[in-house]
Amino acid sequence: MSQCQSCGACCASFRVSFYWAETSDGGGTVPAELTEELDPWRRCMRGTWSDLPLCVALQGEVGTQVSCAIYPDRPSTCHDVREGDAQCLRARERWGLSVPQLISA
Ligand code: SF4
Ligand code: SF4
Repeated sequence: MSQCQSCGACCASFRVSFYWAETSDGGGTVPAELTEELDPWRRCMRGTWSDLPLCVALQGEVGTQVSCAIYPDRPSTCHDVREGDAQCLRARERWGLSVPQLISA
């Protein structure tokens, strides 16, 4: 069973950057107003370009109950994180959360 809905650590641990054309003003899905320019080619989610990252689209409380306000429209970077992968484990460790129980196929 996914622990993501009671976690959210990866939305509050890293800079979430992606190719600029993923934003709505570039023809993509990510609402442009929730992003900021990182360089001429990349945007990032507001709130994540920080020493204490916290994505502006994250709702709820990390480690308790969370949801993504733009889940269907989130950037590719967010699609790429998988429960139990190296980034997930680093994020959970950062927040003092246990390692997810992985379901074996
Ligand atoms: S850190 Fe891992 S378990 Fe937590 S929300 Fe991200 S992918 Fe899911
Ligand atoms: S856009 Fe959604 S899934 Fe991606 S970091 Fe922000 S809250 Fe998390």
